[in-house]
Amino acid sequence: MADAITKNVGKVWAQAANTPWELHCDPFRIAPQMYYIGNTWVGVFLIDTKEGLILLDTGVFEAAYDFLNNIYALGYDPKEIRHIFLTHAHPDHIGSVNQFLQVSKDTKIWLSRTDTEFLHHPINQEEGIFKVPEIHVDCFYDDNVPFTMGNVTIRTRLAPGHTPGTSAFFISMPDENGKTVTVGIHGGVGTNSMSDEYLAKWHLDPTLRQQFIDGCEAMKSEHVDITIPSHPAHGDLMSRRGADANDYRPLVDEDEWARFLEIRKKFAEDLNQKN
Ligand SMILES: [Zn+2]
Repeated sequence: MADAITKNVGKVWAQAANTPWELHCDPFRIAPQMYYIGNTWVGVFLIDTKEGLILLDTGVFEAAYDFLNNIYALGYDPKEIRHIFLTHAHPDHIGSVNQFLQVSKDTKIWLSRTDTEFLHHPINQEEGIFKVPEIHVDCFYDDNVPFTMGNVTIRTRLAPGHTPGTSAFFISMPDENGKTVTVGIHGGVGTNSMSDEYLAKWHLDPTLRQQFIDGCEAMKSEHVDITIPSHPAHGDLMSRRGADANDYRPLVDEDEWARFLEIRKKFAEDLNQKN
């Protein structure tokens, strides 16, 4: 089965950069204290910890205005963003970091140590829409030490494959009844950067695809109540969400995480046969 999203990545990316208003998505709630503020193509997530805001990914810079407007539309002030967690060092996820820093100057930028090094890889420095912006990373994730702010706890897990230092996130918070709800986000599952051809061309570790496959399998054992992909189409987010933008409950499904990882793992395994 072909990974259609991955095959069309250049086309939709050009649309996102040149006519971002065509991809606008009204914000919606994905967990008790978490909102989708990205567009129809790339995910950007806002977490209200009750003691300040955390942003997960920043989207392409051309759509920064749209993501900021979505935060205001929810009634939040982007000045309250204290931390920005980044899934991986590709410009569709880190592109608006500097735009957000214009608004919230005391914000700390987080990325894995591995992908902070990957920022300077030649693939990220090619001129054009795939070039990453210059960003300053303040903190690296420590997968052994959960990050807590307010009543939200975030665990990270290095999940290499899509990039050498992609991270997965397990974000726990109480629901209305005090029961803990965990959101799982795999930071990057696109197989576009996992073919033998791509890995060889860019002198990347040839084992990255296998690391991704192994990581997906290992992560299935994590308990996740709400599965969120870093691009909505990678995990059918838009068809799984409910019609009510404030009701996250249609997304609660503790079996979805393993199902999602299995599908994404199969896409990568398909490349084993093609290569
Ligand atoms: Zn990516």
